Amino acid sequence: MSSFELRPHHGLCIAFFEGKGYSPDFTRYMAEMISYLEMHNPEIRLVLHTDRICSACPHNRNAVCDSAQKVLHYDKTVLSLCSLENNQVLLWKDFQSLVRLKILQQRRISAVCRNCQWLFICSEKQQKFLTFSDKYDKIEL
Ligand code: SF4
Repeated sequence: MSSFELRPHHGLCIAFFEGKGYSPDFTRYMAEMISYLEMHNPEIRLVLHTDRICSACPHNRNAVCDSAQKVLHYDKTVLSLCSLENNQVLLWKDFQSLVRLKILQQRRISAVCRNCQWLFICSEKQQKFLTFSDKYDKIEL
């Protein structure tokens, strides 16, 4: 399979996905894509346009997101915070680690996802993630 195109901000959507989405088909597809990424750890290409996940989204209008400017801002912020570039290719798990280290552990999710309708879910989960990380760090020490 050729490299898996992924919008950078989808690294955050995936981190806190809990089976909610824009439509039942989209939610099912998102869950399938997450399983695929976790199982195969493919090379991903970070892109600033609609990606594999967008392909099942009802907001995808002829390959353009109907919130294009808003999500482009999310994507560029994720790239900047993770010191990555448009079109960069890396393994899914390396990208996932960068998102955790540079955004989640730094409590920066709200700096990326301003005005996102799902932010309330992700903010709550970020707090749980941080609590767990703190405990984990203590165990490691
Ligand atoms: S089309 Fe827009 S709203 Fe839908 S998954 Fe892609 S970026 Fe998100």
